[in-house]
Amino acid sequence: MVLGSTWQRILGTAGSGGEPSQSSPVPSVPAVLSVQELRKVYGSTTAVDGISFEVGRNEIVGLLGPNGAGKTTTINMILGVLEPSAGSIRIEGIDIATDRSQALERTNFAGVYAPLPGNLTVVQNLRIFGLLYGVRNLAERIEALLQQFDLVRLRNVKSGVLSSGEQTRLCLAKALLNRPRLLLLDEPTASLDPATARDIRATIREFAAQDTGGLLWTSHNMYEVEDVCDRVLFLSHGKILLAGDPKTLPRAHGKETLEELFIAVAREPLALERV
Ligand code: ATP
Repeated sequence: MVLGSTWQRILGTAGSGGEPSQSSPVPSVPAVLSVQELRKVYGSTTAVDGISFEVGRNEIVGLLGPNGAGKTTTINMILGVLEPSAGSIRIEGIDIATDRSQALERTNFAGVYAPLPGNLTVVQNLRIFGLLYGVRNLAERIEALLQQFDLVRLRNVKSGVLSSGEQTRLCLAKALLNRPRLLLLDEPTASLDPATARDIRATIREFAAQDTGGLLWTSHNMYEVEDVCDRVLFLSHGKILLAGDPKTLPRAHGKETLEELFIAVAREPLALERV
């Protein structure tokens, strides 16, 4: 089997422990994700500049910001793909620097930059990732996800020939395989038609409401962010410039819409810092 290098790096450490066990001790901390003073420096570029934030249980948090703001670098550090220059990341209280496998087995993600192996069918992909994550009752779990993401008729199709929207649905099904406590989604609806995107948003909201998980979601679609996210964090030049409820934050900064606020973050971040 040939997995992309991103998957090998992620699964190389996350796959050994299996699903988070109901019986394993979970520290009684409220935050699914806790990031403290996180930094990443590349030579003279500070991609992430000492950010701190949390994602609570049943919470959907949007990580927003213009191109180059540091979103992907932040997500890659949370996934254990990139080593931070400084700071800490805890998933359900477990530090990924010291208890990497335990922390990462509670995590999953879907992102356009990590497509699934195209030479495997839909079911083969789900089976292999399910085995790597140590999912219990895997056959049953796969059938439920095929139904949930409308993939039943595509089960034996190689994922490389799926349309981009179908591939996104498969990536989301894979991301829920191990019932993650922390789900990271990078532009999850970017290639979906409006009707499918709405269904997927509903599925994600359901996951956040029913399971014990929380979500960190990146998107450039402000309508979607306002619709889905409980809270947003605006990154600019590696720092959190603004944070709050996407429905009230624009007015608090003299803007009509989240899109206007986004444009202001991108064009005049210093003016916003003074508000
Ligand atoms: P986009 O919305 O365009 O995906 P982003 O917010 O995800 O942007 P990052 O990809 O995290 O931004 O990049 C943040 C900064 O770090 C950018 O200035 C980028 O050029 C820089 N950067 C990212 N990776 C590296 C690297 N491997 N080496 C040097 N600089 C890097």
